[in-house]
Amino acid sequence: MNIIKRKVLSVFENQVLKQGCVLEVRAWNPATFFEVDLHLPDVNMEKWNSVQHIKIKVSAYTYRDYTPALWDAETHTCTLCINSSQNGPGSAWVSSLKRGDTISYIGIGSTFHKPVADRRLLCLGDTSSIGHFLALKQLALGIGDVYGAISFSLESHAREFSDYFDTYLQPVQEKKWDLSLVSWLDQQELSNEIVYIAGHIPTAIQLRRHLKQREDFNGDIKLQGFWG
Ligand SMILES: Cc1cc2nc3c(=O)[nH]c(=O)nc-3n(C[C@H](O)[C@H](O)[C@H](O)COP(=O)(O)OP(=O)(O)OC[C@H]3O[C@@H](n4cnc5c(N)ncnc54)[C@H](O)[C@@H]3O)c2cc1C
Repeated sequence: MNIIKRKVLSVFENQVLKQGCVLEVRAWNPATFFEVDLHLPDVNMEKWNSVQHIKIKVSAYTYRDYTPALWDAETHTCTLCINSSQNGPGSAWVSSLKRGDTISYIGIGSTFHKPVADRRLLCLGDTSSIGHFLALKQLALGIGDVYGAISFSLESHAREFSDYFDTYLQPVQEKKWDLSLVSWLDQQELSNEIVYIAGHIPTAIQLRRHLKQREDFNGDIKLQGFWG
């Protein structure tokens, strides 16, 4: 990046960047997945009625999207669930975080995923979408019935997921990983569910194609691609 571009970006960042504080970081075993508790004093979480995403500065002029989950509007706190098994600035950033650090973010926006009343809400995704579905579950409290599956490449992470979180989402083992969720779906009876798919984009597209071929399925599919 040349000097002029950097200067323009610095001015922009000075105007828009907001700060939050890291309250706690919990690494799973092995440490390629993190739960990060944040205090975001400037955020009004009362208004959230769809799953949100926060654009965080992870290194110089570099931003990544993550999903605020398990929020408490009164204390302005939430938790990010971040997969870091890949090599990237986002992974490096989360791996280096510790309690008391300041984080910078551009803003928080809505995704198109929100619960629909009186329907079964079927969630399908990989580890990058854990926060996304925890958020959907929180929004669906008293509205709709959430269930589904998350694919894991590591057995230890699948175990930790079941230990730490509600078991409404079933962990499934990635074998040839984009097929594991299809196999899981083949064991489910479907009708008019709202299906929420998030995470790896090619897998999400494959799952949607597979669902559309199911004769017993006459519901709706909502896809939110994360990475590809
Ligand atoms: C709306 C939205 C919400 C999101 N919420 C979350 C969230 O809550 N938690 C979360 O972990 N991610 C989330 N993501 C995905 C995250 O922003 C991206 O995965 C991001 O690219 C990771 O940045 P990185 O710098 O670590 O890797 P990058 O430098 O972006 O990518 C490096 C390489 O790794 C691959 N890659 C990226 N992500 C993964 C992955 N999860 N597993 C395996 N390979 C990968 C890329 O395809 C690329 O080849 C979200 C994305 C969006 C759009």
